[in-house]
Amino acid sequence: MAERARVMALEANFCRVELEQPGPGGIEHLLCVRRTRLGKTGQQICVGDRVQIDGIDWPEGRGAVAALEPRNSLLERPAVANCSRVVVAVALEQPQLDPLQLTRFLITAERTGVAVELVLTKADLLRAAERAAWCERLQGWGYGPLLVSAQQGAGIAELRQRLAQPGIAVLCGPSGVGKSSLINALVPELALRVSAVSGRLQRGRHTTRHVELFPLVPGALLADTPGFNRPDLPLEPGDLGPLFPEIRQRLVAGVCRFKNCLHQGDPGCAVGSDWDRFPIYTTCLEAVQAQAAREQGRSIGSAGLKQRGSRREPLLDQRLRQVSRRRQRQSDVDDD
Ligand code: GDP
Ligand code: ZN
Repeated sequence: MAERARVMALEANFCRVELEQPGPGGIEHLLCVRRTRLGKTGQQICVGDRVQIDGIDWPEGRGAVAALEPRNSLLERPAVANCSRVVVAVALEQPQLDPLQLTRFLITAERTGVAVELVLTKADLLRAAERAAWCERLQGWGYGPLLVSAQQGAGIAELRQRLAQPGIAVLCGPSGVGKSSLINALVPELALRVSAVSGRLQRGRHTTRHVELFPLVPGALLADTPGFNRPDLPLEPGDLGPLFPEIRQRLVAGVCRFKNCLHQGDPGCAVGSDWDRFPIYTTCLEAVQAQAAREQGRSIGSAGLKQRGSRREPLLDQRLRQVSRRRQRQSDVDDD
């Protein structure tokens, strides 16, 4: 008989799952053969997925993933399924806060359709006036940033409170911003390795290799994700606007003259150009358009050729994309 479980960690060839109901002798975890793609559907297994396990060898603590249950949400990169909030962490200093990079992380987080929170780390490195200026600026973007210092312990209790809610919270952000230090402050018994920010680029080494779920309090899981510095943008230019709270907000108040408006500041656009992130939005839009044009060129160029192992293959299947768009619209409605 199949047992229900949650994927807690992916390793090279295995995944570690936590059983919904403990097995004989109170066994809670099993190591399962990692079939990267499941059967006919070809779906990929992600951390956070709810799965069914069969072929269980209880004495050995082994099994195999037999089926994948439908997902509520999916963070594409790093791949985490069924998360209920995404926490984007960036440093105020060391490395310096880069608004474009932060925007790329926020866009990735917004694409899940779940709640997005913003944490500003290394608060100890800036003076109070500089901290306040960043807070005010980011509030203008539509986020209520929480300032923390893992070194001095500031903001940690509040962060724990925000995270200790049922479901999975994912912590993501560039490497070197202090994510491991934060997790250590939140879950001291883990003692994750913290890397020194080194070299000219002030980037930490990539110490976290795999995504893993840590229990924070009963029922609340935290996913630590591998550091990476440049998240992908959506594939369609029209998908970008709804990922900016400022645009969503302006479209509650007004309607653009053209239905497929890309909000480039033209007359008749209800969004306009008098907002802080307009130049960043424009930069991202141009990048998405250039990428779309390249993709089109490539698919024309390779028409008739067998396409195998394409790196650009979207992680998300079509059905899920529709679900998260619906959720996105829902959350737009909830915003007003
Ligand atoms: P990660 O790559 O995001 O996991 O970052 P780490 O936790 O490995 O930290 C990178 C570097 O930033 C290390 O040298 C830490 O000591 C330093 N760091 C982390 N948190 C803080 C903080 O709150 N204040 C200061 N000043 N440095 C910090
Ligand atoms: Zn417009």
